[in-house]
Amino acid sequence: MKAVWQQLHEGICQGQRRAIAKGITLLESSHPDDARQAAQLLAALENQPQARLRVAISGPPGVGKSTLIEALGLRAIAEGLRVGVLTVDPSSRVSGGSILGDKTRMPRLSLHPAAFIRPSPAGTILGGVARRTRETIRLLEAAGFDLLLVETVGVGQSETEVDGMVDLFVLLLLPNGGDELQGIKRGIMELAEIIVINKADQQWQDLAANTAAQVSQAIRLLQRKHTAWEPQVLLCSALHHQGIDRLLEHLLAYGQTMQQAGVLQQKRQAQAALWMWERVYEGLRLQLHADTLVGQLAPQLEAQVAQGALGPIEAAEQLLHCFANARK
Ligand code: GDP
Repeated sequence: MKAVWQQLHEGICQGQRRAIAKGITLLESSHPDDARQAAQLLAALENQPQARLRVAISGPPGVGKSTLIEALGLRAIAEGLRVGVLTVDPSSRVSGGSILGDKTRMPRLSLHPAAFIRPSPAGTILGGVARRTRETIRLLEAAGFDLLLVETVGVGQSETEVDGMVDLFVLLLLPNGGDELQGIKRGIMELAEIIVINKADQQWQDLAANTAAQVSQAIRLLQRKHTAWEPQVLLCSALHHQGIDRLLEHLLAYGQTMQQAGVLQQKRQAQAALWMWERVYEGLRLQLHADTLVGQLAPQLEAQVAQGALGPIEAAEQLLHCFANARK
């Protein structure tokens, strides 16, 4: 009998949707048996090809991210690409997952055989969303998806984390004459290789052009991420499928430019090293919590710290010492 991970591995490499979905569920599981199977599955997928391009799509709620992903995804499929979509949306976790939500948000793309859409995992996994996203990206590219779009709500910490997993970061803004710029954190603007002013519909063309000019001026003052690529500001109307061709062209041009400059490979290698450390930290955390001696000592130390009888730093030292000694 083949192990679960072996069956999934075969199915995923053949691009079977059921195996892909089950594989991602396995990665998201926090059960120790599943974690072991997941680690074997990931190791087995290691030699599978990588995606042509991994793209983060970020922006405030309502700016048009899902509308744009739907339009861009369909456009890319028309060019012969296979498109994987992941959402890293903290708000969808509050409502307990968004499977139905994402299907209705991207109705045509979600039904297309050349696309695979995976919503955020339900239930908060503290500090674990990033790792699972990275691993889900890996699984999807092993299954043959060559353009990966990772959607995030542009409001905080998750953006920097997601930027550590993708090749480029696309920020969506509204055509409101730059007012919004005050509210967008400088750090997020600095992450963006491409800024899209969405909802640049016919009737808002002037406003959109004005916003684009202000954004272009603002980003000139920011620190450049790469020397090989100058951040671009584009206009789109996702709802009317306008500007989507240009966006796709720019995405692919970015991939090509960075590949030729050798930067893409470097970036991915650095991300892989980061991934290694994430796994090490998580592994250590699990071992720490599973350790019997630590498990006996911890409640006593916690109580002493809570009563003020022991300082937290001293208590932490004692726990770490206990953990290290148990390993000798
Ligand atoms: P998200 O929250 O960023 O994913 O935004 P959605 O894609 O759900 O879009 C929010 C609303 O804006 C929806 O009603 C869309 O139909 C609308 N929308 C998205 N793109 C455009 C656009 O280019 N022009 C106009 N007028 N509306 C748009």
